[in-house]
Amino acid sequence: MRKLQMVDLGSQYQKIKNDIDDAIQGVVDSSAFINGPEVKNFQTELESYLNVKHVIPCGNGTDALQIALMALDLKPGDEVITADFTFAATVEVIHLLGLKSVLVDVDYDTFLIDTEAIKKAITPRTKAIIPVHLFGQVANMDEINKIAKEHNLFVIEDTAQAIGADFKGQKAGTIGTIGTTSFFPSKNLGCYGDGGAIFTNDDALAHKMRGIVNHGMYQRYYHDEIGVNSRLDSMQAAILRVKLPHLDAYNKARRKAADFYNEAFYEVPEILTPIKADDTTHVYHQYTLRITNGKRDELKEFLESKGIPAMIYYPVPLRKQKAYDTGNYKDSDFPNTNKLIEEVISLPMHTELDQEQLEFIKQSVWEFFSGYKG
Ligand SMILES: *Cc1c(COP(=O)(O)O)cnc(C)c1O
Repeated sequence: MRKLQMVDLGSQYQKIKNDIDDAIQGVVDSSAFINGPEVKNFQTELESYLNVKHVIPCGNGTDALQIALMALDLKPGDEVITADFTFAATVEVIHLLGLKSVLVDVDYDTFLIDTEAIKKAITPRTKAIIPVHLFGQVANMDEINKIAKEHNLFVIEDTAQAIGADFKGQKAGTIGTIGTTSFFPSKNLGCYGDGGAIFTNDDALAHKMRGIVNHGMYQRYYHDEIGVNSRLDSMQAAILRVKLPHLDAYNKARRKAADFYNEAFYEVPEILTPIKADDTTHVYHQYTLRITNGKRDELKEFLESKGIPAMIYYPVPLRKQKAYDTGNYKDSDFPNTNKLIEEVISLPMHTELDQEQLEFIKQSVWEFFSGYKG
């Protein structure tokens, strides 16, 4: 059996090796390392795939979030609502810009931001909502856009984990004011280094963000905005151009592995398998179980002893991270996040899982739980 990994980029590369090698060699031969034609071509191809007017490539998914927020002209102390249960990048950029993060609970079944909690968190200072399309499915964008419209708020969709997912036929990241994504190697559409992109249908915002990614320049050496230097390298763009046509097949392969896991674990009484939210497809950036008998950490150790990696995404909610702990939150406002950090465990999930590997993972999880049933 091939060695089990959370993500198997090596095996994926072997299948597209010739195309990737040619793409890399092409960039080297052209010497167009920065802002070369590969970047523009990738931009156009991604616009077409997502059916969005503007894609702005940038350096990584964290920059994408920061640039999106910079474009909205928020004032220090303005409030941005986002999920407590997510990767720290989302909240980090809010604080970097002097804004105030307002963290809210997520839904226990879908891990997605709780729209009722959003409503309760709105104050006169609220300016934006950042729903995170966590683990590969899309937050309830109908409800979020409705709340945003009522209160005149911007919506930035953090699509780092859900590129290619649909919500009622629209691509994740193209439904709010702005969408952002990451091409970190292990994401569903990953390059071979850092990369990211911003999406919008708003011409004025797109223009502004194209300047911000490039030192606020719209005309060379004239700086109209305070910007950053955040570029997608030509080499990464060339690699992404090879991989984009495979994205749907990659997401399908993830879904197939998830279907196997769902079937395998559905009837184990101590396990809750992932629940699909309404109106969204799921691209399973992560396959995350909830272990309800308090033995999550023991399961993780057991699996690791058999050579099966497993990860806890995420062990600490953002409101309890040292960097962001304001002491202003009440535990009772986060019943779901509080449970999830104790229960979640993510199994290997990638495009190259084969039947033998899946079967071995299934048998191992079963072995662990039958041990407890006695
Ligand atoms: C990966 C990720 C990011 C950050 O992307 P980078 O390219 O690593 O900066 C932001 N938000 C979420 C939800 C992510 O999973």
